[in-house]
Amino acid sequence: MRRIQAKAAGLIIGGGAPIAVQTMCNTHTQDVEKSVAQCLEMANAGAKLIRLTTQGLKEVEALAKIKDILRNQGINTPLVADVHFNSEVAIAAAQVADKVRINPGNFSQVHKDAQSQFSRFIEVCRKYKTAVRIGLNHGSLGEDIVNRYGNTPEGMKQAAMQWLAMCIDEKFDNVVVSLKASNTIVMSQAYLLLYKAMEESGTVFPVHLGVTEAGNADQGRIKSAIGIGALLDKGIGDTIRVSLTENPVNEIPAGMQIAEFFESGLEAKLKALVQQQNSRTPILPFNAFECDKEDWNRFIIRAASLFGVMLLNKEIDDFAIAENPYSAKKMEALKENIQQGARRVFYHPEYIACPGCGRTQYNLEETFNKVKEKTSHLKGVRIAVMGCIVNGPGEMADADYGYVGQGGGLVTIYKGKNPVLKSVPDSEAIDLLLKIIEEDQK
Ligand code: SF4
Repeated sequence: MRRIQAKAAGLIIGGGAPIAVQTMCNTHTQDVEKSVAQCLEMANAGAKLIRLTTQGLKEVEALAKIKDILRNQGINTPLVADVHFNSEVAIAAAQVADKVRINPGNFSQVHKDAQSQFSRFIEVCRKYKTAVRIGLNHGSLGEDIVNRYGNTPEGMKQAAMQWLAMCIDEKFDNVVVSLKASNTIVMSQAYLLLYKAMEESGTVFPVHLGVTEAGNADQGRIKSAIGIGALLDKGIGDTIRVSLTENPVNEIPAGMQIAEFFESGLEAKLKALVQQQNSRTPILPFNAFECDKEDWNRFIIRAASLFGVMLLNKEIDDFAIAENPYSAKKMEALKENIQQGARRVFYHPEYIACPGCGRTQYNLEETFNKVKEKTSHLKGVRIAVMGCIVNGPGEMADADYGYVGQGGGLVTIYKGKNPVLKSVPDSEAIDLLLKIIEEDQK
């Protein structure tokens, strides 16, 4: 078995290296000053990789400037360019960034053209020693794959294996792979299928784990901990990103808390205690989680990484945390969020919200919180809030309704995959979205 290690600047990813926690700027990349400031904050918080939106050649130029300024300040954190749709931009970015994230399937609608563009891209990466992430998301698979396998975990695996096979043929190893989804079951199944297929092929590439559009606050952290934890529990995962619709610097402690729970052996110890109880509703005391009362975020991440993963895997049906210092109401909300994150019981609407990036043209965090406030009574409805019209509609996957920012203060409202109201002023958009959902529910 060949276990590949990828290398982005000085950072080793995979093959037994520590889990690298990463994040992504939500600044406009062309705003070099703001992007540098955010990268500095992220590096100081412990980010091992920082990704920036690189949608065009101007952003590639800006990325080069950002990199120079950071390196001159002694910050050597590898920078990752995030490129969609355009192989020429990916090729330019590969000459500047330490790693480039692409979805090769969207280079061209014609698969053969996408293949030849990918091949040219790889040659540039080889020359510049640039790492590559083949990043496929549920909802943005190529047409040929969707026609053959559907928008399914199997389709996601097939798409990834196709591109990885090309890397093997071209003897290009500096590759990381990801198959993200917002649904924790789809996400974990896709990665498990991919890992098995890589093992069967004899070459295992490093894996980047993440739950896309996880939302924010407790729900976002819990959903991410469950999806990522389900794979780390099986020894799968070399670099992780917790996507939160918040200040992206907050993603770093959340990612570090997940990685540390598994790498320290505490997860294995607590899981063994739970298994000894041989109960569908295990109980652990609060002090088993080794958290301070004040460290709520660490505690919920540990509880979700343990009980949420066991719920997702149907090893248990419920759980309790005895002798905890929190109010009954707070614990009830935690249990509901873990049950829903594991997709066992649905208590609330399901929110699918992207973290935002350099493509976002409005205050996503504030808008998402307003949407949550106005729709919190709509149990079981899947509502997406997406930062841009370019990737948003594809990536909101199986949402029932979508609020997608177009820029310039305008919004498109989706019902399933269909835009039902276009160019609505953002001051009216949330009420119109609510009206559409409520009319459907009559
Ligand atoms: S949907 Fe658009 S704004 Fe949101 S993270 Fe993806 S590319 Fe960025």
